[in-house]
Amino acid sequence: MLPVAEALAIVLAAAQPLRAEEVALDAAAGRIAAQDLVAAEPLPPFVASVKDGYAVVASDGPGLYPLVGSVTAGRVADFALAPGQVAYITTGAPLPPGADAVVMVEESERLAGADGAQQVRIRRAAAPGQDLRPVGADVAQGAVVVAAGTRLGPAEIGMAATVGCARVAVHARPRVGILSTGDELVAPGAALGPGAIHDSNGPMLRAAAAKAGAAVIDCGIARDEPAALAAAFQRALAQCDLLITTGGVSMGELDLIRGLLEQSGTIHFGRLLLKPGKPCVFATVQVRSGAPKLVFGLPGNPVSSLVTFYLLVLPAIERLAGRRNPGLRRVRAQLAGPLRLDPTRPEYHRAHVVWQDGLHGGAGGWLAQSTGNQASSRLLSLVGANALLELPQGDAPLPAGAIVPALLLD
Ligand code: AMP
Ligand code: MG
Repeated sequence: MLPVAEALAIVLAAAQPLRAEEVALDAAAGRIAAQDLVAAEPLPPFVASVKDGYAVVASDGPGLYPLVGSVTAGRVADFALAPGQVAYITTGAPLPPGADAVVMVEESERLAGADGAQQVRIRRAAAPGQDLRPVGADVAQGAVVVAAGTRLGPAEIGMAATVGCARVAVHARPRVGILSTGDELVAPGAALGPGAIHDSNGPMLRAAAAKAGAAVIDCGIARDEPAALAAAFQRALAQCDLLITTGGVSMGELDLIRGLLEQSGTIHFGRLLLKPGKPCVFATVQVRSGAPKLVFGLPGNPVSSLVTFYLLVLPAIERLAGRRNPGLRRVRAQLAGPLRLDPTRPEYHRAHVVWQDGLHGGAGGWLAQSTGNQASSRLLSLVGANALLELPQGDAPLPAGAIVPALLLD
């Protein structure tokens, strides 16, 4: 049985980022940058005011000065400031030549002179450079503002817009197929005959793959019959970069996936040292030329299939999509109650974590509440869960208050 960390290393070594394509900025949210985005211009491109107020010559100091002009954002001064003069300026406007500081409006008073000319009382001395953003203060010219391999969230998209990109190079969206297997399965909505259950894995993993950024392909339900299964498998594989099957990987007579993968490609591992999800197969299959397709034969039990998805398939999808740091994020969590350990396998215990003030010696921290009965068939243990607690194997229970690593699902 292979430890999960080793299995993940094998999966990531086999998953190469897909080709790049260009998309409009408005279609880029959630995609992964395929190239560094570089600022061609500095930002701001001119010395800009940080405040609404008056452009001044700093060495003038406090006093009453004639108002000689005005420059608002988007305009450029058609005058130069001489010592002993001030000009009105707004936030984001270019500093007029001759000025070297801004005094905010709150430190000033506008007065009408006897001749109708405007004067401004400056109440406080300004240091040179005060309330100004020098050229390149926010972004230096030539700076990498979004690195290749970064997921494009709102800030990254804003940054791309800032440097003038209307389109960005991103990796192609991985095409992920999901094929449920089992004679007992019927689609939700259909009536249950004797011995039948609804296919929960299909809809569940389609949702999980979509959330991971995949273009999802519903490959339906295949029967536990070698020829039908092989046909469904080949059909599914032709359409996708990564195929997930569920069921048919344990030791039963009708568990046909292992044999099928042996015939079609290379199996890299077939049993994992974890609970739940021990029977989990990873294979690569060469279909004509091009990159080998990744195939995960996940266990049929719904909890096992979703847990192994999170641990191994999600990172693979994210790597195909180009992400530099794929996979779930890990935090430290404190157990709200005691938890029994499995004597032979590390366990991914489903939990709900909440931030609790005062934990961890006052700094605050994550408090983990178990979702209850952890049977691998009991999907309710994942409903409402937002973390997988990484419990070591062991004989004695972990007491309440123990600190464990937790993988965040959201
Ligand atoms: P298997 O790995 O095919 O032996 O399946 C293990 C258990 O998971 C059995 O109880 C199956 O009925 C159940 N199972 C398999 N596939 C699914 C599915 N798509 N949805 C819900 N339960 C499933
Ligand atoms: Mg089965």
